Amino acid sequence: MIRQAVIMAGGLGSRLKGRTEAMPKGFIEIGGKAIVEWSVQKLFAAGVEEIIIGTGHCSEWYERLAEKYQCIKLARNDRYAETGSMGTLACCAPLVHGDFLLLESDLIYDSIGLSVLVNSVETNVILASGPTKSGDEVYLQTDDNGYLVRHSKNSSTLTRIDGELVGITKLAKKTLDSMVAYCLDHQKDQPKMEYETAMSAVSSASPDAASKIHVEKIEHYAWREIDDESHLEMASSTVYPLIVENEKVRSVRREVLLNPGPATTTDSVKMAQVCADICPREKEFGQVMEWVASELSLMAGAPGRIETVLFGGSGTAADEVMISSCIPDGAKLLIVDNGAYGARFAKIASVYKLDFEVHSSSGYLPLDVAAVQKKLIDGAFTHFAIVYHETTTGLLNPVPELCRFCHAHGITTIVDAVSAFAAITIDMDRDCIDFMASTSNKNIQGMAGVAFVFCRKEALEKTRLYPMRNYYLNLWDQYEYFRKTKQTRFTPPVQALYALRQAIIETKIETIEGRYERYTACWKELVQTVKKLGLEMLVPEAHQSHLITAIVEPSTPSYSFDALHDLARKHQFTIYPGKLSDANTFRIANIGDIKPAEMKRFCGVLEQYLHSIR
Ligand SMILES: *Cc1c(COP(=O)(O)O)cnc(C)c1O
Repeated sequence: MIRQAVIMAGGLGSRLKGRTEAMPKGFIEIGGKAIVEWSVQKLFAAGVEEIIIGTGHCSEWYERLAEKYQCIKLARNDRYAETGSMGTLACCAPLVHGDFLLLESDLIYDSIGLSVLVNSVETNVILASGPTKSGDEVYLQTDDNGYLVRHSKNSSTLTRIDGELVGITKLAKKTLDSMVAYCLDHQKDQPKMEYETAMSAVSSASPDAASKIHVEKIEHYAWREIDDESHLEMASSTVYPLIVENEKVRSVRREVLLNPGPATTTDSVKMAQVCADICPREKEFGQVMEWVASELSLMAGAPGRIETVLFGGSGTAADEVMISSCIPDGAKLLIVDNGAYGARFAKIASVYKLDFEVHSSSGYLPLDVAAVQKKLIDGAFTHFAIVYHETTTGLLNPVPELCRFCHAHGITTIVDAVSAFAAITIDMDRDCIDFMASTSNKNIQGMAGVAFVFCRKEALEKTRLYPMRNYYLNLWDQYEYFRKTKQTRFTPPVQALYALRQAIIETKIETIEGRYERYTACWKELVQTVKKLGLEMLVPEAHQSHLITAIVEPSTPSYSFDALHDLARKHQFTIYPGKLSDANTFRIANIGDIKPAEMKRFCGVLEQYLHSIR
């Protein structure tokens, strides 16, 4: 698994003088975006968790880029004017922990090149293309097994040409270390060493195949390095349009899901599932699960405070885990029911024959906090379960307020945050939540199949001796087994976990706050249209989550949900009927990879339908 990438961006770009005197080459724009930002986005989409950029000339431009993307780390080469690219790479080396992708900053390229390297069975692979006729080619010569032996800008010095160097390479940490050592050895005679030189030297000197560098050639590869004005012209007029076309052809037809989960996903999340088969008991897959769990924990609380336990299943599985595993015998549970999911909690508690009571409340009016607090105390309850965001209607419950009250009274709190997590910022310590459930297919924007329970460490520890009421969904067993073995007890949904890993990478880039803002922008589009069309919303605006909106169906007899659904479907939108039995509503969710412009387009469809039945 490739987790890191290094971009070498220290150079002066002296052949583009007018443009790059006060700006690094990577910030030249093509298609309205800096070329290095294209690269950063393609790397994250290819599953890279962290990008290290080696900077030098005008490094403040990269500092600004690193502010925009949390997962970019910078390593400045203070001697960039006296060293070559290898000097910059050596500055990045201490931040590299394993196999990684290495790129030059002044490249535009088709993202397929990244997939080819990531997918290659070789650990050290250099990407090559057929002839580009760019006038600035670096030719590669390989041995009979396809391993790099030499490179040169002058083809006559090579006995054979096996491709042109693109500037994208996959390397093992060990190979990088050898390159750095080679560079140090030649500080005196080659102070301006380019990284290719160190690569060729290490590859040709290496006695075993494991540290040789394989050349992987894509004959008709769309890419361009931008070193001078003629390259820039070639890049903008022919290469960039070709890259856009290639990538578009490979994209998946877009269907925007306006149902409340599973939510719309990005193509990169879909594609993350397409990878080599792996037995989930391999150490490598254990590391994927461990990373997923620890990153999820960081989204739910302070570092070191939360344990996330993964299960194969939908969100309801996580709810059932909590109700069956987090309540000891002799406990008394109060459940708030103000929608379908609160009712589901009660149903699960009844299946397990727990001692519980239900506090029923309106599905669309705010919960009476004082009444719940009084009931908790009067009834001497030890456990409290509530839904953070009632997906039924889009009503937000006052979870932090109630859980803080519980905490002060020694009551354990169990929260279904399935449709709140990763859109609303939650800190389980701050908000006094002991156990919390969510799933891979809602706001985190992954695929269906992974359920997770977040646990405050000390609350989890207490469940160690609780009765085991079921087998598959037992929290402590699952936690303890994973802690010891880095495996789940039973077969995990392997591909859904790869997709979840990618979804986490993308959530970190957007940030949960940023995601909530985007969701809110979509919601505003919807609310504006709903009001303009004279439709009514079930929940008062101030108590709406901005994630799901329940809209009262028009009273016109010619209105038909099915007709509206079918029209929307024709326009690639999927909508879902309401869930409340006492009010005829339809629901529009705006969670998932949805852009405000798409919500606006849906609003046009809604308007068209309503005009047609007037
Ligand atoms: C989606 C959802 C669930 C889980 O439903 P599944 O059908 O099991 O995926 C649980 N609680 C809430 C609040 C939800 O929105």
